[in-house]
Amino acid sequence: MIRNMQSFQLRTNGEIESLICLPLEDLCFTNAFSTRGGGVSPLPAASLNLGNFSEDSRENILENRHRFLTGLGVADMTLVTARQIHSTLVQSIIDHEDALSEPREGDALATGLPQTLLGVQTADCLPILLADRQSGAVAVAHAGWRGTLGGIVSRTVETMQQCFQTNPSEIVAALGPAIGSCCFEVGPEVIAAFRQQWDFTDRLLSHSQPDGKGHLDINLANRLQLLAAGLRDEAIFDCKLCTVCHNDLFFSYRREKGSIRPVGRSMGVIGRAA
Ligand SMILES: [Zn+2]
Repeated sequence: MIRNMQSFQLRTNGEIESLICLPLEDLCFTNAFSTRGGGVSPLPAASLNLGNFSEDSRENILENRHRFLTGLGVADMTLVTARQIHSTLVQSIIDHEDALSEPREGDALATGLPQTLLGVQTADCLPILLADRQSGAVAVAHAGWRGTLGGIVSRTVETMQQCFQTNPSEIVAALGPAIGSCCFEVGPEVIAAFRQQWDFTDRLLSHSQPDGKGHLDINLANRLQLLAAGLRDEAIFDCKLCTVCHNDLFFSYRREKGSIRPVGRSMGVIGRAA
């Protein structure tokens, strides 16, 4: 079903299957990207929807979160998520009062707190996990085309530098499952917006069509932003799993929208126990 992945491993615990970035785990960072099975949501039956409380019952989401974190062996850690709005807003979680309050608006989170898991919710958008090997600070970013256009991951690295004195060359990054350039068709207006913002836009494009549409490589765009921010190329790990092609494993908004039920959300998490 899935070709060999060098730096990632699908790991099963009971009904829950999670994708782990091994180099982050080797550095003692708890991390995972969820898959869609083993939960209690009717999206369809037994879906592990880890999205917002708005499109599913609160009980379902809380039970799914519990199953996901228990499967990872970190049910005792505090999970912090953001109210994601396709922005370039980064929220820094600096004390446990922040961690326990209602989700704040934004599309990236950063923290230096131990025992805190940061979560990013996606269904096609790219979930990015970042870890500072030196300070132990971690961050997550939600990079759809809007966030990528605005440089959400660059801003996240800047926040780590400002709040945790992170040296970007010490950051290890994991790019999770997202809509791949194989499937991500965008209109000419999106391509034009990227051209205006990023010199490397030509490198992101494929499948160009006479009507101006084309396919966009969001993963490459974020890798290039991370490199420009000072990360080492060999410290950026991309699972290269397309959520549309692997809709059996991951929720995909593009693939599932228009059906009678809402589309569930996967979650990427990172943190450290101590
Ligand atoms: Zn695809």
